[in-house]
Amino acid sequence: MFLFSDIQQYHLDLTNRKTSCVEAVEHYLDVIAKNQQLNAFVEVYATEALERAKALDKNRSQQLPTGKLHGVVIALKDVICYKDHKVTAASKILKDFTSLFNASAVQYLLDEEAIIIGSCNCDEFAMGSSNENSSYGSVKNPIDNLKVPGGSSGGSAVAVSAGMCMVSLGSDTGGSVRQPADFCGIVGFKPTYGRISRYGLIAYASSFDQIGIFGNNIADVCDVLNVISRTDEYDSTMIQHDTEIKFQEKQEKKFRIGYLKDVMEHPILDQEIKNAIFKKLDSLKEDGHEITPIDFDLIDYVVPAYYVLTAAEASSNLSRFDGIRFGHQSASPVSNLNDFYIKNRSEGFGKEVKRRIMLGNFVLSSGYYDAYYTKAQQVRKMLTEKTEKIFSSCDFILIPVSPTTAFNLNEKKKDPVSMYLADIFTVFANLTGIPSIAIPLFQHTNGLPFGLQLLAAKEHDEALLQFSNQISNHQKK
Ligand code: GLN
Repeated sequence: MFLFSDIQQYHLDLTNRKTSCVEAVEHYLDVIAKNQQLNAFVEVYATEALERAKALDKNRSQQLPTGKLHGVVIALKDVICYKDHKVTAASKILKDFTSLFNASAVQYLLDEEAIIIGSCNCDEFAMGSSNENSSYGSVKNPIDNLKVPGGSSGGSAVAVSAGMCMVSLGSDTGGSVRQPADFCGIVGFKPTYGRISRYGLIAYASSFDQIGIFGNNIADVCDVLNVISRTDEYDSTMIQHDTEIKFQEKQEKKFRIGYLKDVMEHPILDQEIKNAIFKKLDSLKEDGHEITPIDFDLIDYVVPAYYVLTAAEASSNLSRFDGIRFGHQSASPVSNLNDFYIKNRSEGFGKEVKRRIMLGNFVLSSGYYDAYYTKAQQVRKMLTEKTEKIFSSCDFILIPVSPTTAFNLNEKKKDPVSMYLADIFTVFANLTGIPSIAIPLFQHTNGLPFGLQLLAAKEHDEALLQFSNQISNHQKK
């Protein structure tokens, strides 16, 4: 039987002929077929993945050089373009739309011989925290099918958590990789803004969006990151970085770790999660790390600022889906061009997306612009300055990923504000562009997993991943 622990071991097993790429793909196709009720995949590329696996096995048997992600089986969130494959952002407005090109991240995966097994369900246009806003229906949490998997990259998280692929890609605008990773008990990493090209990622809020990686362990996340974070002339917001992350399995350094007092004392935070994080901080202190409480009275402004700014950017980004340049065209009779746009967009977009487009237009409208958009920009600036200050005396921030474990399906669906508050601890990293990771470590008495969130200063992705691994190993001891 095919067993996967990590990419390095898989590559060893391939070299020693203990397994093959075909065996790996067959295994994952089987797991996907047996778990259809989770609704994690929008499309599975079975025939094509098997053919690619066969070709890779053949190349290896002929001793041809192998790529860095040779035979690694990967799933993509349905907002990432893969040439000649459908990409719909889980929206009716893009139903049956086919990508004309590869996202740069996908191109880099293919160049290194990864096998793309399918596209994953998500919230429509990546807007949501529960994967319930999808034209394909809700995704279910594999650990408890009555719970949400988190969102918006719920399908990608479930695909890794339920063993349907080795790693997957999602996008993280306000927590959409870290929060579902936390709810499903796996690793979810959002790099520094600008580390991975956004070319070919369907835009939600361009100054926040970043492709993120789901994996079973930190080493696999690093392997994928090194491949997909190559610089790219098609994304001018990319930061220049040419150093590959050199991952050392064993590192035992001592660091200055800050935790945000106002986060840990926030009434929204589940008591058990709070206790577990404090216990972890205590044991890190015993291990010789320096632990510092940090005042963070801006916490209650992060969600409003995030939703004002992202809605504003979304209202602009989504204007291209008008049924003429892109998207669904209404079949009902229209009297003029404006009427045509209205019908196309009213029929094509789901409720939450419409809410955000309207909110975005409202906060950008003259008369309200200064009260909302300018104010939110000012909060963003204050947060950025505060973050720089924190990292002048700390190496990392450690906080929970989410205030609760996975909640019930339908629990928050009708109450957008309570849904937005689920992002209270994750949006900070996107507002400030810093790297952040969710590491699964604990189990709640309700049986669900949860972990912790580590954040580092901009461009300190390598140190963050290295320390995350140290923390995971520490937990195993
Ligand atoms: N839940 C957040 C939102 O709906 C984050 C989404 C994301 O990161 N794509 O905006």
